Amino acid sequence: MQDWIINVWGVRGSMPAPSRDFLEFGGNTACISVDCGEALVVFDAGSGLAALSRRLRTGRPIHLFLSHVHIDHLMGLFVFSQLHNPDAEIHLYGEARDGSSFRQQLEVLIGPPYWPVGFAGFAAAVTFHEIGPEQTLPLPGGLAVRTMRSNHPNLSLLYRLESAEKRVVYTLDCELTEELRPRLVEFCRDADAVVWDANFTAQDLALHPGWGHSSWEQGAAVQRDANVRLMLMTHYNQNYTDGFLREQELLAQGPGIRFARENMEVRL
Ligand SMILES: [Zn+2]
Ligand SMILES: [Zn+2]
Repeated sequence: MQDWIINVWGVRGSMPAPSRDFLEFGGNTACISVDCGEALVVFDAGSGLAALSRRLRTGRPIHLFLSHVHIDHLMGLFVFSQLHNPDAEIHLYGEARDGSSFRQQLEVLIGPPYWPVGFAGFAAAVTFHEIGPEQTLPLPGGLAVRTMRSNHPNLSLLYRLESAEKRVVYTLDCELTEELRPRLVEFCRDADAVVWDANFTAQDLALHPGWGHSSWEQGAAVQRDANVRLMLMTHYNQNYTDGFLREQELLAQGPGIRFARENMEVRL
């Protein structure tokens, strides 16, 4: 059975945090890849995508799923060097919103006047896949990605990557509510790993209802209820320092709970 390898490239929410207080966990925004052997799947294009593109050694197609188009999940596309590689095949997945196609949303931001080069100028073969909630998208190698509507401002999708043997769920960005909980628990059911929106502590979450994020405490509860093997906390608030996150990590400690750090590699 082929191992899957999760690589963590960015762990931060909202804005990069490039200073010495954030070096241990990392200061780049959301980006995680899952190397499934036959396919390289990437979730979100935060500033961590720049690190992935530096390390990338693949002639395989890249399947990049955007949960939504908030800037912290997109900013890595500006410097995604594979877009300039004429041999690269890149599939971008995301949804239409507010009357704009998925492609139009990206073209507004990535291109003049916000950026000197746009999709018309990239050398890579880029395919836009407009997707929505409650879909099952086949990928090469017998893989599939299922989608679910998140609870987050301006529309966001949750993803479940699965093969016959393995399952990884990606829940950025999402505010867990009692109404959403049963469906989300089912979406996470029996996953080998869930990448969890741990933007807040429970205490801070109570001060930010409606901001579209969850807490690590909620993730720990979902891990138990959904029989998740590994709950990987990430998308940390941009103000949470290494010292603070280490404290939370100690409070959270339990089998199958890990706090993501940049450059972490998890083999499933
Ligand atoms: Zn975010
Ligand atoms: Zn967001």
